[in-house]
Amino acid sequence: SEIPAIVLNDGHVMPKLGFGVYKVDGDEAAATITTALELGYRSLDTAAFYGNEEAVGRAIRESGLPRDEVFVTTKLWNSDHGYDAAMRAFDASCARLGLETLDLFLIHWPLPSADLYVDTFRALQALEAQGRVVSIGVSNFTRAHLERVIGETGEVPAVNQVELHPYFAQSELRTFHAAHGIVTEAWSPLGRGAEFNDSVIIALADKLGRTPAQIVLRWHMQLGNVAIPKSRTPARMAENLAVFDFELTGREMTQIAGIDKDARQGADPDEMD
Ligand code: NAD
Repeated sequence: SEIPAIVLNDGHVMPKLGFGVYKVDGDEAAATITTALELGYRSLDTAAFYGNEEAVGRAIRESGLPRDEVFVTTKLWNSDHGYDAAMRAFDASCARLGLETLDLFLIHWPLPSADLYVDTFRALQALEAQGRVVSIGVSNFTRAHLERVIGETGEVPAVNQVELHPYFAQSELRTFHAAHGIVTEAWSPLGRGAEFNDSVIIALADKLGRTPAQIVLRWHMQLGNVAIPKSRTPARMAENLAVFDFELTGREMTQIAGIDKDARQGADPDEMD
């Protein structure tokens, strides 16, 4: 397929572009995910919290694609921190997905107030050792949370999935990830549309004959990020996949770096509890 892969620090590979399914729910969820697979997406990002793991599983089965051609990520919710709860949460997610093994399992939020994320990560290590999940990682972890996990477990998470888009470019965290071999996965990679009216993004889109979404996603690809844009509109879903046949120059990448305003849209990981 035309979607490039990135090699994780455990030697396994992950598609650089996937389909995020937050708020893809209700009766249309499985149909939307089926459309994503038909259009060529081979990575699906769900979570226990999204309430659509059943639909993800159904769409994969109905696609007829071999299991090993679809990369499936799910996440453990905040109510399931702690070693035993995490093990149960994994089983429950697999049961809802109807899958024996997962490709990537993430701790959704660090929940520092509960102070259980290191124990929770130890459960993920056990699942990895048992071969029930291929790769393990975290989401919304700051540098301090990552340093504790690495220091106390001796394992470096394969992935940290964090809010990241041109207005919130997370350059310090990306530098830390790169130094430790952690893949940066961008959630809300399109800033939920916030950058589509930005004059720099619009000028680049006009110059290159692309859409603002494609400029932003291409920027992610060239930064070395994994990105998981979401849309329920087939034309936009296809548009978001078509970012591997053009390139931004170094100067254009620098122009996009210049619009960062450290503007978070979602929750602050240290505040979420
Ligand atoms: P996004 O940046 O992907 O933006 C999605 C919105 O942008 C859509 O609602 C759609 O209206 C619009 N859009 C998408 N493609 C477009 C196009 N080509 N042209 C015009 N508009 C377009 O934001 P998101 O949905 O918040 O994030 C994507 C995924 O990230 C989620 O589905 C989920 O899988 C993941 N996520 C994870 C966390 C976490 O805590 N780990 C938090 C939020 C989201």
